[in-house]
Amino acid sequence: MKIGAIEAGGTKFVCGIGNESGVIEDRIVFPTEHPDKTMKHVLDFFRDKGVEGIGVGSFGPIGVNPAAEDYGTITTTPKSDWSGYPFLQTLRDAFNIRLGWDTDVNAAALGEAEWGAAKGLDSCVYYTIGTGVGLGVYAEGRLVHGLVHPEAGHILPRRHVDDDFAGCCPYHGDCLEGLASGPSLEQRWGTKARDLPVEHPAWRIEAYYLGQALIGTILTLSPKKIILGGGVMHQKQLFPFIHAEVVKGLNGYLYAAEITDHIERYIVPPQLGSDAGLFGALALGRRAIENG
Ligand code: ADP
Ligand code: ZN
Repeated sequence: MKIGAIEAGGTKFVCGIGNESGVIEDRIVFPTEHPDKTMKHVLDFFRDKGVEGIGVGSFGPIGVNPAAEDYGTITTTPKSDWSGYPFLQTLRDAFNIRLGWDTDVNAAALGEAEWGAAKGLDSCVYYTIGTGVGLGVYAEGRLVHGLVHPEAGHILPRRHVDDDFAGCCPYHGDCLEGLASGPSLEQRWGTKARDLPVEHPAWRIEAYYLGQALIGTILTLSPKKIILGGGVMHQKQLFPFIHAEVVKGLNGYLYAAEITDHIERYIVPPQLGSDAGLFGALALGRRAIENG
């Protein structure tokens, strides 16, 4: 089975062609520009390749309800050229094949569940901590949508006592994204996040906020695995700090060995690294073909 995969990010697009076993043979990366230009690259890449279906994991927010008018579009993105863009319809007009469609973070969660850190599990969540903060949810074998789709980057954490940064979310100021995204680190500390030393207090504060988000996620969704990806999580020293925050914050309330005994195996980096989204898009394409 030849399957197309598109990881549509706000900064770059990755397109790939693979098979149902999670082998990607061919790929291309290009920057996200005006949709007309970017989608021309996409269509040129897949033309005459003989893919049976294409899966898309897209930046958003996006329309994911097949019964709604905005299905298959990017809805309220600050990237104004893309706001309202009929992504799926553009693919449908060019190729008469099955199409899968979901958020980039839901795709990443699915990719990790199929071929990565959550392989063999029927539930996991995937957080990206990068330019923004996003959450993908895979539960009982399905990607969760609901009213819109999870947007846990905008929950409101309790403040760290040593943090007086106002936060950088244009909507909420000091929501999780406003306090813990890559840009928030750069604005708070006045230097690129990747240049902050390992021992800088920034990382304890970062873990304090992420720990709270994970506690909320554990208590509401009860995922079997939590995967933390995105540029900021390249700072591997964050993992033990986050583990400690989660254990401390739960304060013995939950008796699950995953938390009490092996939290370092429960809250983990993506096994697929920065390819989680692309593999997830491949899995979305496979599901679209299989489900007819
Ligand atoms: P995006 O979210 O745009 O898809 P990334 O997940 O790579 O892309 O996130 C980019 C953000 O991650 C930037 O704001 C940057 O500050 C941060 N970042 C990238 N690399 C690192 C690093 N090594 N350490 C800390 N922060 C990083
Ligand atoms: Zn916000």
